[in-house]
Amino acid sequence: MFGRAPKRSNNLEYYEILGVPRSSTQDELKKAYKKAAIKNHPDKGGDPEKFKEVAQAYEVLSDRKKREIYDEYGQDGLKEGMGGASDAHDPFNIFESFFGGGFSGGRGSRSRKRRGEDVVHPLRVSLEDLYNGTTRKLSISRNILCPNCKGKGSKSGSCDRCYGCQGTGVRTTNQQMGPGMIQRMQHVCSECRGSGELIRERDKCSQCKGKKVTQEKKLLEVHVEEGMHHGQKIVFSGEADEAPDTIPGDIVFVLQQKANLKFERKSDDLYVEHNLNLREALCGFQFVLTHLDGRKLLIKSNPGKVIKPDSYMAINDEGMPQYQRPFMKGQLIFHFNVDFPNSRFLSPEKLRILQTVLPVKSHSRLPDKILDKFEEMTLVDVNIEEEMRRKERQRQREGYDEDDDTVHQVACNQQ
Ligand SMILES: [Zn+2]
Ligand SMILES: [Zn+2]
Repeated sequence: MFGRAPKRSNNLEYYEILGVPRSSTQDELKKAYKKAAIKNHPDKGGDPEKFKEVAQAYEVLSDRKKREIYDEYGQDGLKEGMGGASDAHDPFNIFESFFGGGFSGGRGSRSRKRRGEDVVHPLRVSLEDLYNGTTRKLSISRNILCPNCKGKGSKSGSCDRCYGCQGTGVRTTNQQMGPGMIQRMQHVCSECRGSGELIRERDKCSQCKGKKVTQEKKLLEVHVEEGMHHGQKIVFSGEADEAPDTIPGDIVFVLQQKANLKFERKSDDLYVEHNLNLREALCGFQFVLTHLDGRKLLIKSNPGKVIKPDSYMAINDEGMPQYQRPFMKGQLIFHFNVDFPNSRFLSPEKLRILQTVLPVKSHSRLPDKILDKFEEMTLVDVNIEEEMRRKERQRQREGYDEDDDTVHQVACNQQ
């Protein structure tokens, strides 16, 4: 039932639809397409869905570039690169480029099926869902062609041309606007509601009452695969509303990833912010990180390694799984912030200990004999934000004063 949902494929589906090997040449593809298209053409009683698939498969495989992308990344690679499956060309156009028209002879004489609208739903998922993969069961209700009358609306399978509009679906009335003025008005025929057909009351299908469609509830299983991305589309081809003379559109789920408090995803890498205190940054650290699949990872620094503030370190193969290659993973990247101690003063003993271990800055010690050549200064604390606010207030006050002066000057000149 859900056979056309995306599945983990080895990218052979299009080849299988056309019944050709992966190594097939353009000529072999053409021949295979012609055969399959004729066999499945709706005018010959074929399945419109199958016909569409054949056209889609041929459209991709006959294009060298698209075929390369498809071989490498499958259908989703094409969707990502080419703006969605709904851009697929009209299968009848492709057919006509081969045969120059339908079976009933000549272009345009065949009543072309229009394509129904796609139905797009956002699907909220967590980063955990995208990491582990998940399946959502979603119940949808949609129109299907009435199974009782096969979408004809009548018991007999036929209908009469509407007598009110002669089958055109519109009616014209004349309205007297004034002496010698008549306005012609067109409106949708009320007898047939614009369809141009009428079904006699006795002949109406007992199930759909002549409406040709009925509602169906359907359970869709949406497979969110490991490594899928925010914005990626999961397409249920041809599962949208059915209607007479219409190729049903697709139901499309667009993944919307909820923000994660701990991990940020960039492509296949995962970023984690981690704060170290100064001691950890200098002397080493270890901590436990719970991964998106619940595993507890012990993260340890290499002994003797000093971590600088605002620096990055990574663990290989612990990032996001790659889509359709879930065993390939990106990196887990830590961004380290270093918190300095809150204490503002260090005791002389602690200072002495620190001085013995911390490196000396080459210019920080000046020879005693030249020190008296300089003016000695003292640093005090400053609250820089408060300072800025004070300066801003002062500037505003001076701004008003300047304006006052200008007004005053003009007044003087006039005297
Ligand atoms: Zn009518
Ligand atoms: Zn019916």
